[in-house]
Amino acid sequence: IVPMRLQKFLARAGVASRRGSENLMTAGRVRVNGQVVSELGSKVDPRVDVVTVDGREVHLADAAVTLMLHKPTGYLTTMSDPFDRPTVADLVPVSRYPGLFPIGRLDFDTTGILLFSTDGELGNGLLHPRRHVDKSYIAHVEGRITAQQAQALRDGVMLEDGMTLPAEVEVLRASSRASELAITIHEGRKRQVRRMCEYVGHPVRELHRCRFGPLTLGDLPEGEWRLLSEAEVESLR
Ligand code: URA
Repeated sequence: IVPMRLQKFLARAGVASRRGSENLMTAGRVRVNGQVVSELGSKVDPRVDVVTVDGREVHLADAAVTLMLHKPTGYLTTMSDPFDRPTVADLVPVSRYPGLFPIGRLDFDTTGILLFSTDGELGNGLLHPRRHVDKSYIAHVEGRITAQQAQALRDGVMLEDGMTLPAEVEVLRASSRASELAITIHEGRKRQVRRMCEYVGHPVRELHRCRFGPLTLGDLPEGEWRLLSEAEVESLR
């Protein structure tokens, strides 16, 4: 993989998108070993070349970071909020890893695994609608869910934005007042699990995501994050 094109290096490092990085180069803001490089075909060797943008050094190793957060309730999945509400940006090391962004989202009240990365290619790949990364949830819902209702969730239900794909649903507990479900979905629409459960007449009271693709939270405490290992990042590609 080394050497690589300078704009790819910049995008990987989280400086800007591929296109944005090209613009930085043509604007003369990028230097390699002290020399302005504006030629778009130029290559760099990240192991030896010193790349700066506006005089600030850019490192691939520093920036190619992917981490998981155990999101608590009461945080918006956004890196900034105009109304100053609590956001996941309050919980992850944004100043240490500039360019960190959430891969997908969890609702304000949903807890569980949420990935962040500075690697735009990884993030966009995982979010591609055709990718179908498995996501598993534990849902506490109101009322006793019946076998037929659980089967309807498995087969697919008609939401405003169309039928849901087949899902795995296991009823872990059911009483007249509440039920607990383990649900795995293979797509990721907005508020999908909440809308599915509501459709069958059992509004979600609590929702926790315990798995994203091959990754689980393990014993990571709520509100805490940890970096993914290289093997874990590879397992996502
Ligand atoms: N489905 C939902 O309804 N909410 C989430 O936060 C995630 C999946």
